Amino acid sequence: MADVIILGAGLTGLSAAYHLDAQGIEYTIFEKSDRAGGLLKSAYDAGYTFDHTGHFLHVSDEGFKIFLDQTIGLSSFDIIQRRSGIFSHNALTQYPFQMNLHGLPTAVIAECIEGFVKRHRQTKDPQTFYAWVLKHFGHGFGKHFFFSYNKKILAYNLKKVHPAWTGRFVPSTTLHDIIEGCFDKKERSGIGYNSSFYYPKQGGIESIVKGITHKITQPIKSLHDVSAIDPTARIVYFTNGHSETYKTLVSTLPLNRLLAILKAPSSTTFNQAAQYLIHNSVVNINLGFNTIIPVDKHWIYFPEEEYPFYRLGFWHNVSKSLVPANHTAVYGEFSYIADRTKPDRVKKLIDQTTSKILDFLQLSDQHKTVEKILHLEHAYVIYDTWRENHLQTLLSSLTAFNIHSIGRYGAWKYSSMQEAYQDGKAVAAIIKNNLERTTSRAQKGATRGRNPAAIL
Ligand SMILES: Cc1cc2nc3c(=O)[nH]c(=O)nc-3n(C[C@H](O)[C@H](O)[C@H](O)COP(=O)(O)OP(=O)(O)OC[C@H]3O[C@@H](n4cnc5c(N)ncnc54)[C@H](O)[C@@H]3O)c2cc1C
Repeated sequence: MADVIILGAGLTGLSAAYHLDAQGIEYTIFEKSDRAGGLLKSAYDAGYTFDHTGHFLHVSDEGFKIFLDQTIGLSSFDIIQRRSGIFSHNALTQYPFQMNLHGLPTAVIAECIEGFVKRHRQTKDPQTFYAWVLKHFGHGFGKHFFFSYNKKILAYNLKKVHPAWTGRFVPSTTLHDIIEGCFDKKERSGIGYNSSFYYPKQGGIESIVKGITHKITQPIKSLHDVSAIDPTARIVYFTNGHSETYKTLVSTLPLNRLLAILKAPSSTTFNQAAQYLIHNSVVNINLGFNTIIPVDKHWIYFPEEEYPFYRLGFWHNVSKSLVPANHTAVYGEFSYIADRTKPDRVKKLIDQTTSKILDFLQLSDQHKTVEKILHLEHAYVIYDTWRENHLQTLLSSLTAFNIHSIGRYGAWKYSSMQEAYQDGKAVAAIIKNNLERTTSRAQKGATRGRNPAAIL
């Protein structure tokens, strides 16, 4: 029996393994895919390196910085100041929209300012993202950016999305900043959680996975796809016929999957809950070109419906190591809800995205050297009211079975690579604590049960 089983060798699972090693606790790590990495896997094709959309390291936790140094080495990273923009009304404005109206048509600027002045400040506790935008930014900003952009990235009705996720992801603004941003066009440094980022000098984002896997002591058991879990008998079953017992389970599987495969009878409520957890999927279309693209941004947001993609990123501006010499590469992303979208529609969106990217860049098929389409089945979880009301209870109930469901999809949240590291570290500390308490209780029990005379 393994002390600890870790399911999934994405960054969260790898961080849990690394920190369990540091505590001297034995574990076994199982991964469905043929290699570790999860969303941090890079695709290598014809001299290009494509990540699963832009994966940039935002490092604000000193512990994370030390972890990166000890596993990969800080000298392996470039530290890059973000250059991002928003394309709307035929103008490329600076990020964030709510501070950079310069360049937009006068009527749009007027609508945004008027809406901000008349924003619904009196709304006490907005329960939807839609109402939250009206409270903090007003109707004009909603119409020209927040509603249109977030509808595209989430592919969900914003009147059914809870604003709990907004926090650090949406920088606030003031009337002063808005007005200043109408006159002056400059990249504002330090705005938002992603104003600068670390990125590996070589090998794409997967190079950090390679660094970590070299540091963990246990081999990753790849091609082990979990098919069922008996939480009472504490057994994990895999599709390849293997099964394994455990004392503690750390799962980084998407929570809806985990809940669906817990075996009855104790798990009926869990099984039923799986269907209420909603998420979207993203298609990431990567195109390589044999020509130079005169855009200096790392990425650009596209709020307007006319563009099927919500963001366009420029790999060669992130790192020259990602493209062959004198070549460039871009990625476009769109979202959809899988069980509400027919495969034909997804295919059509892929074709439309590819041709609209070429249009936007004024390039033709002849410039295209490679096309690599990457699918992210779980991309953004939907923060709806059901999630708000039930998630914590679900996660605590799992913990009562000694199952720690962690990571971006295990804990069903928006979170970054830094948080994946933090989640893995935190679970190792909890497991160590639990083990120490169990050992100390066992020792006390043994002491109580002994004959005092014998102790003497
Ligand atoms: C579009 C997008 C852009 C992002 N950009 C950034 C960014 O710029 N910066 C940033 O910091 N973060 C970014 N993130 C977040 C980042 O990707 C995640 O925080 C991080 O990768 C989560 O790691 P994880 O290990 O929790 O999950 P995952 O990477 O999903 O790992 C889970 C692992 O479990 C495995 N697994 C699944 N099912 C099974 C099964 N049945 N049996 C066994 N194994 C299984 C999977 O194969 C996978 O390896 C982005 C996310 C998305 C979706």
